[in-house]
Amino acid sequence: MQDKILTEEHKMFKEAVENFLKKEAVPHAEKWEKDGIVDRDIWKKAGAMGMLCMDMPEEYGGMGIKDFRYNSIVTEAMIKLGVGGPGFVLQNDVMAPYFETYFTKAQKDKWLAGIVSGEIITAIAMTEPDAGSDLVGTRTTAVKNGDHYILNGAKTYITNGILSDLVVVVAKTDPEAGHKGMTLLLVERGMEGFERGKNLAKIGMKAQDTAELFFRDVKVPVENVLGEEGRGFYYLMHNLPQERLSIAVGAVAGAEQALEDTLTFVKERKAFGKPIGKFQNSRFKLAEAQTEITIARSFVDECILELNEGKLSNEKAAMAKYWCTEMHGKIVDDCLQLHGGAGYMWEYPIAKMYAGARISRIFGGTNEIMREIIGKSMGL
Ligand SMILES: Cc1cc2nc3c(=O)[nH]c(=O)nc-3n(C[C@H](O)[C@H](O)[C@H](O)COP(=O)(O)OP(=O)(O)OC[C@H]3O[C@@H](n4cnc5c(N)ncnc54)[C@H](O)[C@@H]3O)c2cc1C
Repeated sequence: MQDKILTEEHKMFKEAVENFLKKEAVPHAEKWEKDGIVDRDIWKKAGAMGMLCMDMPEEYGGMGIKDFRYNSIVTEAMIKLGVGGPGFVLQNDVMAPYFETYFTKAQKDKWLAGIVSGEIITAIAMTEPDAGSDLVGTRTTAVKNGDHYILNGAKTYITNGILSDLVVVVAKTDPEAGHKGMTLLLVERGMEGFERGKNLAKIGMKAQDTAELFFRDVKVPVENVLGEEGRGFYYLMHNLPQERLSIAVGAVAGAEQALEDTLTFVKERKAFGKPIGKFQNSRFKLAEAQTEITIARSFVDECILELNEGKLSNEKAAMAKYWCTEMHGKIVDDCLQLHGGAGYMWEYPIAKMYAGARISRIFGGTNEIMREIIGKSMGL
């Protein structure tokens, strides 16, 4: 975010978050990447530091301030320091709005303090082997049977899939009713019939666990419905703009870091007797990157302020997600090229950035779906 949209409190929080990550996350990043998962410990430390679900009420340990700038400070710091492994951004930006808006008092009392302290790790399970972009094609079913539902189905590509203790599962409670028959159920670690598949091997974001989840006749008590039965699809649609803005925030931060690293590299590396940054092609590529990042930054900051005011439209969030992630992809590609062979080596941060950036055009709704949303808002 630009300094001009941050107050002194934001700046102090930013410094504290960066210092925390440098001390507690950066030294472990390589190990987490090799393990394909982070230690649970980092979640509890982050909770104690106050960087999880800051917008939750103070009585549950949050700051009670609804201000997406705090969320974005955490996202940007994690991306810039190359420690995207812990799924804090999912808990803060994607999950928190569900808990804040749809948890009953009893659900809040049961789980919220743990979610804020990092004792409870959460996940959202929408995608299935046969249903991704087309959520209405969900095959997972939950059949009501007295005081519980019987849940059956399989989910895939679930972030925090291995570590999660509480999973919001999208299921059909009325398969004939299309999007009106979808319900969100809270499935807890240890429920009989809830199993996890393997931690999936990815081309990037290797320190973050992504897994398949299986539900075989899982008995989910009716108290574990999130919100109302049959309203799941509406809740998902309502919360997706914030998720998409979060991805755009990460994309701009990632592009900025790629540019910063590449500037250092091209000033040092020499070819034909001069730094490679002095070739016109290098100057042009980096000038284009700087220009696009500056434009994206303004737009995304505007979206953050609009989200804070409850005015961010679905289509504007889709524009931010689609445009910033395409820009990010192009910039990391150009920056990798400027690194030459070194850019292809995993030990160079630009290689990790290149692989990591690729996902943001796919998750949170693919960029094709973003264009559909924008096109429909134009009456097409
Ligand atoms: C690392 C990672 C983490 C993820 N985390 C989560 C998570 O935590 N929870 C979760 O539920 N999911 C998660 N996902 C899943 C992700 O959201 C989906 O992969 C994504 O929504 C696309 O769905 P799909 O893979 O089924 O692709 P498909 O929907 O099969 O799409 C395949 C291609 O077809 C295109 N396409 C589909 N429909 C249209 C259309 N109408 N018009 C034009 N083109 C179209 C798509 O754009 C895409 O290019 C994650 C995925 C990854 C890789």
